[in-house]
Amino acid sequence: MNTAPLRYARHHVLESFGEEGQARLGAARVLVVGVGGVGGAAVLYLASSGVGALVLNDFDTVDVTNLPRQPLYDEEDLGMRKAEAAARRLAARYPHLAVEALPLRLDPSAFARAVRAVDLVLDASDNFPTRFAVNAACVGAGRPLVVAAAQAYEVQITTVDPRSGAGCYRCLFAEESPEDAFGDGCRRTGVLAPLVAVAGGLAASEAVRLLAGQDAAWRGRLLHGDVRTGRFGTTRYRADPACPVCAAVETRG
Ligand SMILES: [Zn+2]
Repeated sequence: MNTAPLRYARHHVLESFGEEGQARLGAARVLVVGVGGVGGAAVLYLASSGVGALVLNDFDTVDVTNLPRQPLYDEEDLGMRKAEAAARRLAARYPHLAVEALPLRLDPSAFARAVRAVDLVLDASDNFPTRFAVNAACVGAGRPLVVAAAQAYEVQITTVDPRSGAGCYRCLFAEESPEDAFGDGCRRTGVLAPLVAVAGGLAASEAVRLLAGQDAAWRGRLLHGDVRTGRFGTTRYRADPACPVCAAVETRG
């Protein structure tokens, strides 16, 4: 039975989305950096929502401590490259999806090429050096970037749209701050397992809406939430005229 016309029926009737938004999504190509907890949740919803092509970048391997918050993987995947295990699983489940694994640490020029080849980047990495490199590549290539992180009991999301002049990730965080829990992965601070799905789901919802032609919710704003206090809020930030990344760069298509 051909279920294709029915599959995205809830998006077709969704206000400001419709069949046109769904068609845009089907034509879109997304690079996801980091397919751990946050990225693993995001790629499941990007794929199930109907994104046409995914490129998964992660050089890490599946470890037993990952399994409680990374249900994309199971015991069979232990020791495998996450990018390859995730690509295999998504390809088996979503036949419409073109999925490619980049299980490598990319040098800056290879990374810039990977960014230029996609419509949007979702950064779910767990450290500042990677986030700064991804931000610089997206600003250089003029590609929108959604950054999501979960640490301990907290989530953070922001969107960088290099063509908007609203500021980039480096305008928000001027330098690496070793004291910031969002800077060293979750080995030291831990992370509440279900929280990664909150961050990944919010990032995927922002990415899917942007690809369908809607406006960014978190451009020039940082969403921060803490599930212990139940408080979620947003903080505005502006383009820094002295930003070493976006102040001097003329974005190109
Ligand atoms: Zn900047």
